[in-house]
Amino acid sequence: MTDLPDSRPPRRPGDGWVECRCGHRHWGRYGAAGLLLWRREADGGLPVTDPRRYAVVLQHRAVWSHHGGTWALPGGAVNPDETEVEGALREAAEEAGLPASGVRVRADHRLDHGDWAYTTVVAEAVREVEPQVGDHESIGVAWVPGAALRDRPLLPAFADALPALHELLGRRLVIVVDGANTMGARPDGWWHDRHAATERLRDELATLAAAGLAAGRVGLPGHRWYPDVELVAEGAARGVSDAPAGDGVGGVVVVDAPGSGDDAVVARATAHRGDGDEVVVVTSDRELRRRVEATGARTAGPGLVLP
Ligand SMILES: [Zn+2]
Repeated sequence: MTDLPDSRPPRRPGDGWVECRCGHRHWGRYGAAGLLLWRREADGGLPVTDPRRYAVVLQHRAVWSHHGGTWALPGGAVNPDETEVEGALREAAEEAGLPASGVRVRADHRLDHGDWAYTTVVAEAVREVEPQVGDHESIGVAWVPGAALRDRPLLPAFADALPALHELLGRRLVIVVDGANTMGARPDGWWHDRHAATERLRDELATLAAAGLAAGRVGLPGHRWYPDVELVAEGAARGVSDAPAGDGVGGVVVVDAPGSGDDAVVARATAHRGDGDEVVVVTSDRELRRRVEATGARTAGPGLVLP
């Protein structure tokens, strides 16, 4: 995305041009990031990845800007003290009035030029959010049906990325963790106090939910995925509170198994598969793996989530 907004003087440490080895100049000394926000539309008969099942927020770019008058994503330069996700959320709040508290980051896509990179952060609206023009860089922001994106003149770089971005839209990753099996994989004294050990694991999972996982580790397209995490606790490990979601990122829901932990894991996987979610169950238990794979969930060993 060679574009760039305008010729304003730098306002922030990330503002500025990069002379890239690709032969172009790019905006954002530490790279740039944009937010691709989607919401699910009612049309229950279609797969969640069908463009008719979602709408996305597009920004109509000011006519004086580079490729002025085209539609693209709210975004801009990333600052050195923030992650790409934080930069995208900040820009979306400033430019399009999209509050971080109303969105949940699901995945991202990275265009890496070596000297510079553009990260498209793909997020779901988790409550009703109405975009509104927040600064002079846009002349409009609007929800646009997923199937109608190409009907508008798009910023060329955004149009180029669209096929890859369509693979990320409408999708959620849920990781269901078999708590007993996962704790058992690490001999850290968990048997002395299962409740405290469950709290430790929950906190590690909350860090993972915020930082995300490389797409290749969970068999999904794109660069990183930011999961919702459910930790299934049984027996003496029960009674641990949830780790609340932060702005833009998911937290950890602790599910107390009424009886067998395995049955609770299967029930959660089945429910999420029914919603069309991508599900990865973390366990090394062979019989449990067989049961959850029958629901269409994937499985991974405890190494996926243990630091
Ligand atoms: Zn370049």
